Amino acid sequence: MSRVLVVGAGLTGSLCACLLRRKMQSKVQITVWEKCHGAGGRMCTSSSPDDPNCTADLGAHFYAELSSHGILRPLLAPVEGMAMTEEGTRNFVAPKGASSIVKHYLRESGAEVHFCRQVTHVQRKGPGWEVCVEGGQAESFDAVVLTVPVPQILQLRGDVPSLIEGSLRQKLEAVSYSSRYALGLFYKAGTQINVPWAMKYFEGDSCIRFISVDDRKRDMGSPSSGPSLVVHTCVTFGLNHLEMAEGEVKTLIMAELQKILPCLPEPTSVEVRRWRYSQVVNVVDGSLGQITLHLSPLLVCGGDGFTNSNFDGCIESALKVVEILKSSL
Ligand SMILES: Cc1cc2nc3c(=O)[nH]c(=O)nc-3n(C[C@H](O)[C@H](O)[C@H](O)COP(=O)(O)OP(=O)(O)OC[C@H]3O[C@@H](n4cnc5c(N)ncnc54)[C@H](O)[C@@H]3O)c2cc1C
Repeated sequence: MSRVLVVGAGLTGSLCACLLRRKMQSKVQITVWEKCHGAGGRMCTSSSPDDPNCTADLGAHFYAELSSHGILRPLLAPVEGMAMTEEGTRNFVAPKGASSIVKHYLRESGAEVHFCRQVTHVQRKGPGWEVCVEGGQAESFDAVVLTVPVPQILQLRGDVPSLIEGSLRQKLEAVSYSSRYALGLFYKAGTQINVPWAMKYFEGDSCIRFISVDDRKRDMGSPSSGPSLVVHTCVTFGLNHLEMAEGEVKTLIMAELQKILPCLPEPTSVEVRRWRYSQVVNVVDGSLGQITLHLSPLLVCGGDGFTNSNFDGCIESALKVVEILKSSL
């Protein structure tokens, strides 16, 4: 049985683990290491500190052209100002939050999942790879899949820098991401958010790009839990305030929100999330969903940086990564 490590418990990592299990059954032992304390990556769902059922999607919020296992359902709530994509495109929302999709695939994979493990080094040891995490712990694997954003691949040490040289380094360094902030505002049960929409895009505002009443968006309002609001900044604001202290950024966004929605009630808590790597602007040139850094033992990279920053892009990348794994293990 081959030991495969998937680094990153975002959508691509969870799909890789799930597809690998489906295609290789009991021939593989799959492990997932994630640096954060939960699954989701850029599809994270946060909870109010006062009520775990009051949740907000601080990353990706809805998905085109995908329906599966009752995890997604068509978006029916009213949206104002959304740019129309291709004719016939249908959008879906995840009733239990964006991270429920990632958790579903992780469950299906049967992988051993460990949180709070930030991979720092990947180096050759015997016939496989030795992978080290922050704090020094190390384990050996027969194959390693990196699904972390491209700039974070470039920060890995061990043998990784010597495997990324010349034109490949140039290609990876040319990948760029937009940056933005997301705020989650949580309210106590019974609070009314008096706006006529579930989601609204704001054109031309120097700070706020999008607001959603998250429970209304998912049609999941419950009398025992309060509503939640998600606010995304525009990318120009994200870029211009990227290095500012989170507390100060929060004050700026809350002031702008007050101008846009002056009657908004006082939240019980507010969470701020800085997305340094939000959506990919320039993908890896000519990568076709993955880049193999080493064939035997296998070290392969995937993720939205190798395709497109959306659901379908992550699926495409995961399929390509699993194809390589299948042929090399
Ligand atoms: C604000 C926002 C809004 C978006 N809106 C949409 C949308 O509406 N529709 C849509 O389709 N897409 C949207 N996207 C894009 C979508 O979220 C991404 O394309 C997708 O989630 C990328 O998944 P991934 O698994 O490739 O990467 P990630 O989700 O980034 O997963 C990588 C994981 O690796 C972990 N990691 C990083 N470094 C290490 C390390 N050294 N060791 C261990 N773990 C590590 C990270 O913590 C993360 O969990 C949005 C993204 C953002 C941020």
